[in-house]
Amino acid sequence: MPHPSSPSSILTHYLVTDLAGITRGRGAWALANEGLKSGVGWVPVNQIISPFDTIASPNPWGSHGDCRLRTDEATLVDVPLTPDGPRLRFALCDISDLQGQDMGLCARSFVRRMVEELAAMKIRVMASFEQEFWLTLPGEDGGTPGFSYQRAVRHEPFSSNLMTLLEQAGVEPEMLLAEFAENQFELTMKPSFGVTSADRAVVSRELVRAYAHRAGGHASFSPLRHAGGVGSGVHVHLSLWDGEGRPLLYDSAGEAGLSRIGQAFCAGIVNHMSALCALTASSVISYERLKPHRWSSAYTCMGDRNREATLRLCPVVGSDPASIARQFNVEYRAADATANPYLVLGGLLAAGLDGIRTDAGMPPLVNSDPSELPEEELRRAGVERLPQSLPEALDRLEKDALLCEALGASLVEALILAKRHEADLCSAWDADELCRRYAAIY
Ligand code: GLU
Ligand code: MG
Repeated sequence: MPHPSSPSSILTHYLVTDLAGITRGRGAWALANEGLKSGVGWVPVNQIISPFDTIASPNPWGSHGDCRLRTDEATLVDVPLTPDGPRLRFALCDISDLQGQDMGLCARSFVRRMVEELAAMKIRVMASFEQEFWLTLPGEDGGTPGFSYQRAVRHEPFSSNLMTLLEQAGVEPEMLLAEFAENQFELTMKPSFGVTSADRAVVSRELVRAYAHRAGGHASFSPLRHAGGVGSGVHVHLSLWDGEGRPLLYDSAGEAGLSRIGQAFCAGIVNHMSALCALTASSVISYERLKPHRWSSAYTCMGDRNREATLRLCPVVGSDPASIARQFNVEYRAADATANPYLVLGGLLAAGLDGIRTDAGMPPLVNSDPSELPEEELRRAGVERLPQSLPEALDRLEKDALLCEALGASLVEALILAKRHEADLCSAWDADELCRRYAAIY
């Protein structure tokens, strides 16, 4: 039966990413020339739905509660999924109460608060989320070497079309590469200021999954596909800039090239690392990835170009100091895509801010695999194993007064409740089952 055509109306989705890192929302049917709605109705308890679509009971709202998804028009994405296929049209939103006020549940607003606090100190943060993922396409089940051109070529024209889609969506894609493990890829995007890097993480994941599905395949950003195997991480690159566009992180005379303010910012992140894991590696399966010898990071330390360190000072090219200063950035490696990108970014900024405010000194540099260093050396450097389970990370977060205050009581309460519920659900599953379940969802 032919569909009645209504060419002048269009379905626009209003979206928010919940505390499980899942982007949810509603579609509104309206005339295309009407412009975006200022927001749509929403339910606060939706923020704490588990990845397995269950809700902790009891929860703070019971069967009550209403709020709004408030549209951020600047985030509108409107792209054709395929040249003759459907348009994907969506905007990202903040969560507010019915009067438009922040009700403490919005992870995106948390990032904005941290960005404003930094701006009050005349500091701007540039960030980029580098994301690894698993991709299977029809007839392409693996068997190609890591980083190989063979794998890249076999995924054409999928890869080039995907990059075009990402470009049209405004996320400024940079690289798409065949990663080390079978069926593993990595996507990088240009760095951007403020909340935009986290928005780009959200948009790019949705588009990669949608486009892979359209191609008859499957893309998953789950941190682990096979128990004991290679992980897929989200590495967050950060650099600091002043209001005039001058880089602040680098000083050729500073230890490992870090300026005084850079040292303090990094020290803040290192000092809060165990608690940060609750925000950046916030699912049960995250802890199957955060193990030594996988370049996924497993210890609370910073290292100079060390891929086993949770905070890595990244390499720079060339010898011109001005160019080096602009390239210089640090990479936080203990994140994955089961975490809400706004909690990841906001948490890192809150921790870094604390380092700057307390003028924290340079953290010790760990430039080899920490799991191979003697216990005594680790103790002297104040280096610990990262939490080894989600409940352990949540305990650390609850004890971290600084991060709890930055997040606000409502967000902490909601996160702890949702994540303890998720941990309970998963307790019945072994590592293989966890891999299957999370890969199907993320
Ligand atoms: N796949 C590794 C991880 O779990 C990272 C490998 C790399 O350095 O790109 O984070
Ligand atoms: Mg990688």
